[in-house]
This record gives sequence, C-alpha cells and structure tokens, in this order.
Amino acid sequence: MHTIEAEYLVVGAGAMGMAFIDTLITETDARVVLVDRYHQPGGHWTTAYPFVRLHQPSAFYGVNSVKLGSDTVDQIGWNEGLYELATAGEVCAYYDHVMRRQFLPTGRVSYFPMSEYRGLHDGKGRFTTLAGADYAVDVARRVVDATYMRVMVPSMRPPPYPLAAGVECIAPNDLPRLAARERYVIVGAGKTGIDTCLWLLGQGIAPDRLTWIMPRDSWLLDRATLQPGSLFADRIKAVFAAQVRAITDAESVDDLFCRLEDAGALLRIDPAIRPTMYRCATVTGAELEQLRRIADVVRMGHVLRIDADKMVLDGGAVAIDHRAALYVDCTADGAEKRPATPIFDAGRITLQSVRGCQQVFSAALVAHVEATYPDDTVKNQLCVPLPHPDTDLDWLRITQAYYRNQLHWLDDPDLTAWLSATRLDIFGHLMGSLLASASAKPRVRDRIVSMAKSALSASATKLDQLMLDSVAV
Ligand SMILES: Cc1cc2nc3c(=O)[nH]c(=O)nc-3n(C[C@H](O)[C@H](O)[C@H](O)COP(=O)(O)OP(=O)(O)OC[C@H]3O[C@@H](n4cnc5c(N)ncnc54)[C@H](O)[C@@H]3O)c2cc1C
Repeated sequence: MHTIEAEYLVVGAGAMGMAFIDTLITETDARVVLVDRYHQPGGHWTTAYPFVRLHQPSAFYGVNSVKLGSDTVDQIGWNEGLYELATAGEVCAYYDHVMRRQFLPTGRVSYFPMSEYRGLHDGKGRFTTLAGADYAVDVARRVVDATYMRVMVPSMRPPPYPLAAGVECIAPNDLPRLAARERYVIVGAGKTGIDTCLWLLGQGIAPDRLTWIMPRDSWLLDRATLQPGSLFADRIKAVFAAQVRAITDAESVDDLFCRLEDAGALLRIDPAIRPTMYRCATVTGAELEQLRRIADVVRMGHVLRIDADKMVLDGGAVAIDHRAALYVDCTADGAEKRPATPIFDAGRITLQSVRGCQQVFSAALVAHVEATYPDDTVKNQLCVPLPHPDTDLDWLRITQAYYRNQLHWLDDPDLTAWLSATRLDIFGHLMGSLLASASAKPRVRDRIVSMAKSALSASATKLDQLMLDSVAV
C-alpha cells in the first residue's frame, strides 16, 4: 500500500472535476490527488458518439483559466451566426491540454488515470491503479465527489429493452460506420435523439426514411439566447427581460409556458402538442426547422421490446420489418435527476449544479466558495444544489432555485466581481459588460445590481406561487 498526502482527493476527471480543480489550484496552494477510471480526462466526452458537439458555445465551457475554442462565430451550417460549438474531439483534446500544460506543471496535481476509487477506509481515500497498486490518500481537507451526476451515454450500456434475434440496435457511436440503411428508427427524443436525427438529415437522408420514437415532447432552449459577449448582450438582456415579464404576468403554469414561448425563451417541435418534458436540450431555429421535417413521429410512450416484425411500446405496437430497419438507441439518461445533497459536508464536497444545467460553471463556483469562505453553513447558503430537470414543472423549480442562488451571490460584492470576471458564467458576461461600463460611477453600478435583484426576487416569489397553485389545482 502506497500512502500519499494531499489537501484534496478529487474522484472524477470529467468536466466538473476539472473545472473544480482549475479554480481551486488558481486560488489556493492546495495539493490535489485526482483519480479516474478512464484513460484520459474529459469523462463522458471520451466515450460520446463521434458527431456530438457541445450544446452551448465553447466560450463558456471547460475550465475557467483556459479558453476553449477561438470565439469564432459560425459562418455555415445550422449554427450559422452563433458562437462555435466544440466537437467531442476538441473537448477531449482541450482537457488533455489542460491536464498536461496547466495542472501537472504546477507540481500540485497528482493524476491517476485508469484507477478505481474504493471509498474511505480508516479515514483514508483508497484507490487501485490498473497495474494493481493500492493507494491510501491522507486527505487534509476534503474528498470531492465529481461523479455524483452519473452521466450516462448510450455507449456505456446495452439498450434497456429486449431485442428479438436479428434486430440491429446500435448506439449512435456506431452510426457513421453502419449508416447505409433503408430505414432508421431513432429511439428517444432527448438531446442525443435530436443530434442523431440532425446528423442523418445532415447526410442528406430524406426525412421520410426516419421514424422518431418520442415518448415525451420537450420544451427546448433557443441557442441564440445563450450566447456570450457584447455581440449578443442586447438580445440576452431583451430575452431575460421578456422572461421576467412572462413570469410576472403569468396566471397559471400553462399560461407561463405560452408566454415563455412567445418571449422566445422556450421552443417546441410540434406547436400542436404541449410538452411535458424539460431537460435543457438546446437547438437553433434552423435545427428546429429540420426536426419538423420528420413526419413519422411515434408518440406511444416508451419502447418495451422490439420484435422481428414490430416495435412494442407502452401505448401499442408499430409494424416495422427488422430486415430494413436500423434502430438507434438514444435513451440513455445523460443527466439523471438525482436527489440534491448538501454540497459542503464535513470532509466532503459533492459537486452539483448551482445554476440550471451549467455544471462546469457550478463546479468552478463551488471551488471559489471553498477557497474563499470560512464555514460550511455560509458555503452551503451560497451553493444550494439544483437537481437536473426532467419535467416541464422542473423549469419553474430550477429557475426559481437559481434566481435565489443568484440573489445570494449579488448580495456579496466580492462574489459579484468574481462572477463578472468568470469566463464560465454566461450571466457574468452580461453583468460584466454592464458593470464595466458603469464602473466609474458607483451609483449607476449599484442601481444595475439593485434592478437585477428586484427582478430576480419578484420572479422567484411568483414562481413559488405558480408552483403552489399548480399543486392545489
Ligand atoms: C451528449 C451530451 C452533451 C452535453 N453538452 C453539454 C453542454 O453543451 N454544456 C453543458 O454545460 N453541459 C453539457 N452536457 C452535460 C454534461 O454532462 C456536463 O457538462 C459535464 O460533462 C458533466 O461532467 P461530470 O464531470 O459531472 O461527469 P462525467 O463526465 O461523467 O465524469 C465523471 C468521471 O468520474 C469517473 N468515475 C466515476 N466513478 C468513478 C470511480 N469509482 N473511480 C474512478 N473514477 C470514477 C468517470 O470515469 C468519469 O470520468 C452534455 C451531456 C451530454 C451527455
């Protein structure tokens, strides 16, 4: 048994573990041991399907201290006019670069890939390397769990429904290799299903060769409203103001969603169907137009099994001859809704989102709070975890909880300044540009912060009310 000492033991070198360590070692002198069962940093990105891209601009993804991408606005494709989206390959190369050029040269990060964490024994964090060497880490401050989100992509497990002999059902990872087919059945309508449909359409496959299994319709985010920088500042401000107005004026949850759609804050694929799902999936207007070209959308619940001549779902069966069809399983739960647990808890930190679906920003903020504030009560007040959304009502829950977190942050001028300078914070980009232009005039600056706070506070209260009313109905 080898014994090593460190202030922090981080389990998981995915996007959250990497963002946490980057801010921690920038702001403290801490030594960190990082353990991961994969061969390279980047977590699920290292096993993702080859045509996946970030859903949000690269400009605010990754670790805070190293830019991802070159802040280029796409000139072609369905993301035209918006900031670039890194491919899986770019994301993996980026994390490799961060590890080799940023973390390891500090001499304060010891990285153990291909190693399995085995928990705490006798107060020490234990792990075993591929070569079979056992380590015990004497942790002076905290064990950081950067695995709590349990991200799952289809290649990590077989399809969760039985398949008859001869039925070919693949993960999207294998699609480019096995793509030549007469008919494609895309099972699942989350972001992976959307990516798969768009990839096939992008290859020129006619939409009538696609069957899309959509157990639930989803509210979608418009990527044009999630852009960084001064180019988009006016638009982001306008959408934020329209969202606040929609919340203020809403008379019910249904009415709220209609208003959010009118305000351009949320989109849906079929205007005739009221979505019941919300999982932060993000598309552009051009992508939405493409998705609407698919006419054969099966809304009969989840797939129960696939027979040679039909697919059996919760709501009935659909005849499909397996000899012509390639099934693409897109059902893995990429963002499982896990119970929220306190982020700071004695010798432990459990990384979770503190802003809806902004995991890397959240991990960096948690590291900053850990480095800056003295006690766990204050730290937990600043970092209330937000479970991943799943249903439409979760849009209200996470928006309300995030507004409350943001209010705490704006109450603290030092934290507000940190956020305004933080690359990973899209709201900070906006506040940063507003506050910078007002920096010479403290009264103007205070007025901007105070206006933001009253809008967030009134909206959070109204969202509470709408949720209470919806339970009472
Ligand atoms: C297809 C897809 C696209 C996405 N796009 C975006 C986006 O554009 N923007 C965004 O903000 N979010 C996006 N997300 C959300 C994404 O999940 C997060 O951004 C982030 O990558 C989550 O990282 P993580 O570190 O929490 O988890 P993971 O990537 O799962 O990392 C966890 C790590 O822990 C390791 N591990 C687990 N258990 C152990 C153990 N016992 N011992 C050792 N190691 C262990 C694993 O090997 C893994 O490397 C996307 C998700 C998916 C699935």
